[in-house]
Amino acid sequence: MISQFAGAQGPHRHFDLVVAGGTVITASHRERLTIGIRDGQVTALLDPKVDWQANHVIDARGLFVLPGAVDAHVHFREPGLVRKEGFVSGTRAAAAGGVTTVMVMPTDQPWTFTPQDFKEKRTLLSGQAHVDVALQAALAGDLSNIDSVEELVAAGAISFELFLGDVPPAYVIGDNGKLLEAFARVTAAGSVVGVSPADDGVIGLRMQRISREGGRDLAAFFRSRPPESEVMGVARACVMAEATGARVHLRQMSTRPAIALLRDFRRRANGLSAEVTPHNLLFSDTSVAALGPYAKVAPPLREEDHRIAAWEGLADGTLDIVATDHAPHLESEKEAGRDDIWKAPGGFPGVQTLVPLMLNSAAAGDLSYQDVVRLVSENPARLFGLFPRKGTIAVGADADLIIVDPQRESIIRNEDQHSRARVTPFAGRRVRGAVTTTLLRGSVIMQDGVVADTASGQFVAPDRGQSQHC
Ligand SMILES: [Zn+2]
Repeated sequence: MISQFAGAQGPHRHFDLVVAGGTVITASHRERLTIGIRDGQVTALLDPKVDWQANHVIDARGLFVLPGAVDAHVHFREPGLVRKEGFVSGTRAAAAGGVTTVMVMPTDQPWTFTPQDFKEKRTLLSGQAHVDVALQAALAGDLSNIDSVEELVAAGAISFELFLGDVPPAYVIGDNGKLLEAFARVTAAGSVVGVSPADDGVIGLRMQRISREGGRDLAAFFRSRPPESEVMGVARACVMAEATGARVHLRQMSTRPAIALLRDFRRRANGLSAEVTPHNLLFSDTSVAALGPYAKVAPPLREEDHRIAAWEGLADGTLDIVATDHAPHLESEKEAGRDDIWKAPGGFPGVQTLVPLMLNSAAAGDLSYQDVVRLVSENPARLFGLFPRKGTIAVGADADLIIVDPQRESIIRNEDQHSRARVTPFAGRRVRGAVTTTLLRGSVIMQDGVVADTASGQFVAPDRGQSQHC
């Protein structure tokens, strides 16, 4: 039971909106309930037999009602790179796919380093965002902005992103003393460190050799980011996490040895958490060879054994969440790598396909529907201080809901993507389980693939008192 009858006795059972007849699924419950919504929040969860009145009703008979997904890792390219994406196109893709909160990475032009950068980015999203948006800040490779940490926390930064490799040199934290200092400072400010693990020394050596040998195709790029690059980054982050007691979230884990190392450290340092992308769960390196530059992504798609290790990591809790690393680029930019993979940028869109792909995994029996909610809604909200406002269906939570037809089959198509990048490596994949309706704070923002015109998304800041481990 969730909290039946809570918040709505007798004459108070009158709501702005009721979602009736559906099976409500959260990470911990699965039950037929009537959802009463007032002022954008869930105010009652009622036994279906109980009477109620409402201004509007959504009939969810035969359908599932899940909390909207929370994607903890997207690049929306605004400011500065809006030819690739922006708050409008990125959040429309999110709404279409059942993602009601996104955490936006700081890697735009400029990167989000200073309180001024942060405030300007926050101003940009208002009136443009169709879903709620949290913003991440970055620490520069030389820690030149470290004295801004406290002010960025006060401004509502959801995390501080540190890049250990595979980004331009100015952004790489290569020095362990600096890494230790960054972890300690962010921890003292009560925030979360996000780490993108990699090792430029390992990557550089590999790339030199592969170029010398004439490697120009997708497989050559994949070989240039070997598992030991990720392992070195994860090792550095884990050692520092243990030393400082920092809350450290590892981005895009993709290899068996790195997941094994993290599993080991998690027994000792309880501030660690980690994510995996849908593409590293669902593609191996050879399954996308025909896509060429459109499947170029870092960390790369891996051999089958690494893909299996990612599923094992989800099953035993070494990996906490699935996040997309939505990284859009234009088709023209991708095409530049058709004959020479090094000329294409890495990354592809993902925020719109996250929930359908995970629902399909549940339909196939690889996960339960409750697992899906845990991995894409509740855990990301918990890890970054947005729970229980986000990530669940409970009295007092925002009425961010998705209505799901678990039986509806569809084929993912490029022409249905709202991202400016348009081309998804998942195009052509048949999925069972469709998001038919997305609600943000009690308003319908997507119905049957049509995104509402009103951009009602808001900036959301973490409640650090609520930041939890999973
Ligand atoms: Zn990313």
